[in-house]
Amino acid sequence: MIPARFDYVAPRTVEEALSALAEYGDDAKILAGGQSLIPAMRFRLTTPSVLVDINEIPGLEYIREQNGHLAIGALTREAALEVSPLVASSYPLLADAARVIADPLVRNRATVGGNIAHADPANDHPAVMLAYGAEVLARGAQGVRAIPVDDLFVGLFETSLAYDELLVEIRIPRPAPGSGGAYLKVERKVGDYAVAAVAAQLTMSGDTCTAARIALTNVSPVPMRSLGAEQALVGQRLTDEVLEAAGQAAAAECDPSADLRGSVEYKRDLVRVLTKRAVRRAAERARGA
Ligand code: FAD
Repeated sequence: MIPARFDYVAPRTVEEALSALAEYGDDAKILAGGQSLIPAMRFRLTTPSVLVDINEIPGLEYIREQNGHLAIGALTREAALEVSPLVASSYPLLADAARVIADPLVRNRATVGGNIAHADPANDHPAVMLAYGAEVLARGAQGVRAIPVDDLFVGLFETSLAYDELLVEIRIPRPAPGSGGAYLKVERKVGDYAVAAVAAQLTMSGDTCTAARIALTNVSPVPMRSLGAEQALVGQRLTDEVLEAAGQAAAAECDPSADLRGSVEYKRDLVRVLTKRAVRRAAERARGA
């Protein structure tokens, strides 16, 4: 279908973008990579009267380490994560995810900020950022505020960003020594959204898990952590029994819907298995394997 009629502005600075958002109110939509917004407009699932295209704003595309975190500019394309030596060397959970988001054509346009701001539980970055304990920086008329990702996703396709705020940066804390992470996704075919996926980020002291964050993709209306799985792991040696308990906790806690990707029972069991495997791989990486 052809989208409904809309106006279009292309600000050259963040300040101009914020003015446009303030002027047009929640009739406006920010356009980043357009890989979720344009299809939604074509299906008339959303009919913004104005698009505020942020692609002409310089300085929002970067990946760098500073002050103990990885800073990712909101307009950074997914493809840039795939080829970043910094991501490959120090953020293996993110590197895993970068390779399995959509397909290369989509990854050339899609942005990390757009993936998160869209708050689609089928998108891969929400779970990755929950597992890392990341935060996002939002710029609005009143200045900049930091939002922990734990507080960002508040509903289906809904975040705690205000309509006149721009997500400008994602911050992932540099993992502590002895940490490792992994992202495991099952998709029906290359380029598809997950049937289910699990993000695991652990810290190990010898054989004991001292910290764990586990998050799930496409098995709940809102991107979620599995607190039960985390509790099953922390303070434990990662035996087969402990991994099974974590997998079962995640399977019980998630809330998938039956659809063309599978039944509720299948998706829950996939979460159980993927949790065990993701935790095992994260622990191996934490030990430097
Ligand atoms: P847009 O489509 O431009 O915007 C999405 C939403 O976020 C809009 O509401 C917009 O207003 C808002 N927004 C964008 N940027 C900002 C900002 N800086 N501040 C505030 N709000 C903002 N994703 C996956 O994770 N995994 C997949 O497997 C996957 N498969 C896909 C397959 C196909 C065929 C396609 C077309 C897309 C797929 N996607 C997948 C989605 C893709 O990653 C999207 O690009 C992403 O969800 C949105 O990023 P975008 O930059 O394109 O944002």
